[in-house]
Amino acid sequence: MNFIPLASPDLHEEDIMALNAVLKTGMLVQGPKVLAFEKDVASFLKIDSAMAVSNGTATLHLALKTLGIGAGDEVIVPAFSYVATANVVELVGAKPVFVDIEINTFNIDVTKIEAAITPKTKAIIPVHEFGLCCNIDAIMNIAAAHNLFVIEDAACALGAKQNNRYAGTFGNFGSFSFHPRKAISSGEGGLLVTSESMLANKVRILRNHGVEMIDGKMEFVEAGFNYRMTDFQAALVNSQFKRFESILAQKNKIASIYLDQLTNPNFMLPEVPSDRNHTWQTFHILLNDNLDRNAVISDLMKKNIGTNYGAQCIPVQKFYQKKYNLNCVDLFPNSMTAYQKGLAIPIYEKLTHENIAYIIEQLNKI
Ligand SMILES: *Cc1c(COP(=O)(O)O)cnc(C)c1O
Repeated sequence: MNFIPLASPDLHEEDIMALNAVLKTGMLVQGPKVLAFEKDVASFLKIDSAMAVSNGTATLHLALKTLGIGAGDEVIVPAFSYVATANVVELVGAKPVFVDIEINTFNIDVTKIEAAITPKTKAIIPVHEFGLCCNIDAIMNIAAAHNLFVIEDAACALGAKQNNRYAGTFGNFGSFSFHPRKAISSGEGGLLVTSESMLANKVRILRNHGVEMIDGKMEFVEAGFNYRMTDFQAALVNSQFKRFESILAQKNKIASIYLDQLTNPNFMLPEVPSDRNHTWQTFHILLNDNLDRNAVISDLMKKNIGTNYGAQCIPVQKFYQKKYNLNCVDLFPNSMTAYQKGLAIPIYEKLTHENIAYIIEQLNKI
């Protein structure tokens, strides 16, 4: 068996042609292809405004800046996520307040959020981890009761839903990433969505050096960023977006096979609550206590299967440990377990039936 990587973006000839066509026009910055991509995703999600930006960390940073969150403020984030979710809170000078996850879904444990709210809390950044919609209905209720903003980190979760409503469309902002590890990719890229036109307008200004057109004149009304996406990136990702439903269906098919045939009693398989759907950005299993996860990764590598841990327990990472010195084993036991015992296995369109059968055979032998 040839090496099966953990992830592999699937660019078709037509995607590359779409990118090339833009290069031939000489339009190398934000232009009509960005606008078209924004319109297409907004219409898919049934939301008013979508703003493409340079990556999925810039989206979260822009959302916090737009909402005016900064020094002296607290923002609730799950303890288990990609580290960017908390880094952006640090970047605006606010304090991330970590909440543990549920061990069966890897999403924030909503029953633990209220205990983390203080008079300084301004926002919650729930993450739709690995592509599974979190219990965003419950989170919106908590946010409403305490007057908090919600920025959904849906970096992995384009197409995920709770009760038939798309992840990213519940909060004040929804944030998506198009890094090559996600279902469709622009290389680097992100997208912020909102149904509040004032917020959308401010994002557009902050994304582009703080420029606003006033009476036909360019005025610099904010100290903004350059967080624009280029037109060739937008053309590349929008070409993949045209077959997005079939990409999701294919990943869903592979996930069903895994759920059905990974019968190793040393594994705990991911759960999908009945009111939600999973887009399977990552297929993440938990290994039993008696298995050493890092040894399993090396063993599988020798068998030509690429695997890795899924996400970080953020407060135990060096920067956060040094700054906040939290006892993560006591405070975030599920996040620590997911960080130490979690295993992400290959799941993408290009996997063949032989690949899938081989992965299942090898994993069941562990
Ligand atoms: C990928 C990811 C990000 C960061 O996105 P980039 O485009 O790589 O900056 C943020 N949060 C989560 C949960 C992610 O998976």
